[in-house]
Amino acid sequence: MSYIEPAPIKDKENPFESMMFRFRIASQILGLNEEIYNVLKSPDKQVIVSMPVTMDDGSIRVFEGYRVIHSNILGPSKGGVRYDNNVTLDEVKALAAWMTWKCAVVDIPYGGAKGGIKCNPRQMSAGEIERLTRAYVIAMANVFGPDRDIPAPDMGTGQREMAWMMDQYSRQAGITVSGVVTGKPIILGGSLGRMEATGRGVMITTLSAMEKLKINPYQSRCVIQGFGNVGSHAALLMEERGAKVIAISDITGGYVNENGIDIENAINYRNNNGGTLEGFPEADKINGDDLLLIECDVLIPAALEDVITIHNAGRLRTKLIVEGANGPTAANADEIIERNGIVVVPDILANAGGVTVSYFEWVQNRLGYKWTKERISRRSDRIMKSSFTQVYDIAQKYNVSLRIAAYMLAIDKIAKAYSHRGGF
Ligand code: NAD
Repeated sequence: MSYIEPAPIKDKENPFESMMFRFRIASQILGLNEEIYNVLKSPDKQVIVSMPVTMDDGSIRVFEGYRVIHSNILGPSKGGVRYDNNVTLDEVKALAAWMTWKCAVVDIPYGGAKGGIKCNPRQMSAGEIERLTRAYVIAMANVFGPDRDIPAPDMGTGQREMAWMMDQYSRQAGITVSGVVTGKPIILGGSLGRMEATGRGVMITTLSAMEKLKINPYQSRCVIQGFGNVGSHAALLMEERGAKVIAISDITGGYVNENGIDIENAINYRNNNGGTLEGFPEADKINGDDLLLIECDVLIPAALEDVITIHNAGRLRTKLIVEGANGPTAANADEIIERNGIVVVPDILANAGGVTVSYFEWVQNRLGYKWTKERISRRSDRIMKSSFTQVYDIAQKYNVSLRIAAYMLAIDKIAKAYSHRGGF
């Protein structure tokens, strides 16, 4: 089809190009009508704001903030807000589109969005971060809303920032609106099970893929990059299901123990060691990049974007990659991985457990009711399992990778919804 451009073969890709590359392939296989392709490739709305904030020393600094609404075809848009010095509009655009596909894959009635503020929260006081967060909510007064666009935490933000966002939005509305953000503290309407939700979804999709590949979890060796929210919960849950986690890593490097790492010990060590694994005594230290090349059954990248590239894809020695992180595999590595017979459970499926439980949080807020943790886990496990099966079946039917199948599932759903709703 004329609108499918050639594959970008470059040394380093930006996340938006990686997203567009897979989107183009899936659209082509689906035979997506060109008009709908054009609607879905362009974000609905891109908001850039400048926020003057008084710093603790009395000076005024101007911060730049973004919110990109990629789509609200399936429902109000949903997506986190990232506080990071390297945030760019292109990155936020890619992350917003990923949210659209992710919500569609797990069949949640949301569109996709993402936000970001160019700042270094590690060099700011709590007061400065609070003023910046409130300024962002004021600047986005006409963007956010429980029926319009619902933010959540991402890199550099957490429960504390979500509480400020909810409070600021509520002050402006004159009533408490708890459903305007998710990822809040439990006392303010946060959901039980949200902390481990993404890692739990990673575990469920890993076990589903292992079943298809006939890998016995009890005889499996697992390597996990990143030991934050996603990585550490995934590690703990994989260990609970019988896997041997032989290597973990964080910003300080990789930690290997061929006999299996005791994950609870590693979590306790990290929690009492300023949040990192530096000096973890129950494993040998290796270079963080080498961790990805360890021979194993399952590799779970759960830290950063673009860690698997054309430079290391050919040297991976795993049977299965489950993408806990968003965008850990650059599009130009897909072909090498596929050629080597490695199965990839893509990010838009593997880490969708987080947004699934965020949706449950929003539902509970709107009902004014709280569900038990068991109910949350049971429902999210069911969604993750059935989404995996749907993606797997599409992959079999069209003889494509799970990644392209997941994009096909999402794009097809959104395209159908769009054709019912119609344009101008
Ligand atoms: P986090 O900040 O809790 O943890 C990140 C971890 O990665 C930390 O252990 C950090 O030390 C480590 N890390 C940073 N740089 C590294 C490097 N160069 N090598 C190895 N490790 C490194 O973040 P998180 O919430 O666990 O998110 C991780 C990834 O998962 C991100 O891509 C995020 O977008 C994605 N994700 C998170 C959620 C969620 O619910 N938290 C949901 C979906 C996707």
